[in-house]
Amino acid sequence: MPRTLDPALRRALAERVRYYNELGIYDFYQRGTAVRESAVSTAAAGIAPFLAPSTALQSETREEMAARKSAVVAPVADESIFETQAPKPEFGVADPVAALKIIREDLGECTRCKLHKQGRKQIVFGVGNPRAELMFVGEGPGADEDAQGEPFVGRAGQLLNNMIKAMGLQREDVYIANVVKCRPPGNRTPEPDECDTCSPFLMRQIAAIKPKVVVALGATAAKNLLAMNSSLGELRGHFYDFKPAGVRSNDPAWPGARLAVTYHPAYLLRDPRQKGEAWKDLQMVMKYLGLKAQKPDA
Ligand code: SF4
Repeated sequence: MPRTLDPALRRALAERVRYYNELGIYDFYQRGTAVRESAVSTAAAGIAPFLAPSTALQSETREEMAARKSAVVAPVADESIFETQAPKPEFGVADPVAALKIIREDLGECTRCKLHKQGRKQIVFGVGNPRAELMFVGEGPGADEDAQGEPFVGRAGQLLNNMIKAMGLQREDVYIANVVKCRPPGNRTPEPDECDTCSPFLMRQIAAIKPKVVVALGATAAKNLLAMNSSLGELRGHFYDFKPAGVRSNDPAWPGARLAVTYHPAYLLRDPRQKGEAWKDLQMVMKYLGLKAQKPDA
């Protein structure tokens, strides 16, 4: 039976593996690595343009993990840490459109984790610009996403669209995906084994797209991407150097992405008071990407 690693040991292993990655050694590691960069403090300038009254005070069924101080990072079977990884079929395919197509074909009608038999209507692979500089990663599909086959199309998706617009972009400019690609029943939080099974495909998507910035929406996305056992409050407000775990990018010149963490839009629907904090996170990203905020009435 797989055993769960002590979080401190797991972090130490992750940092050691990253060190090997920097030496050009990749093919032995299965999960996320990340190094926290020095804190970047960003003061909010003005109000969040996505503070639309229509989105305030609405409830949302999805659970947000942000408030769980003792939330546990997805357990990893220590036997798998140094497992040899076969080269991914999209490796050597420079065109991100073609690479994503290969990854989608490889995923197929996936039955790799138990979510395939718990009521999913379809796999929700991801949507957006395959050459996006900015990528958003959420937790998993909800009912609307499951029905339409596209991430973030429900009320939380509308708020995400407003957030993207406030950043001076359109939804079509960015790429949006989730940690798990099948809807967890009842919109529950995906379980660690489900995240561990599905997230390698997300890592491959990130490596194919090669964004400048990845924004993790909510605790589940942040913890799975960063492999860090911290609360959302601790994870927010910083940039992290991020390279998708277990995947080699086709472009040796790609330095990896910067990763920022903010609240899941579903959580912001439940607690609109946090929108100002989310806007601070997005402003940090905008500053890095050289984006100008769009006025609410523009
Ligand atoms: S959640 Fe991911 S790993 Fe699980 S069945 Fe769906 S596509 Fe496969």
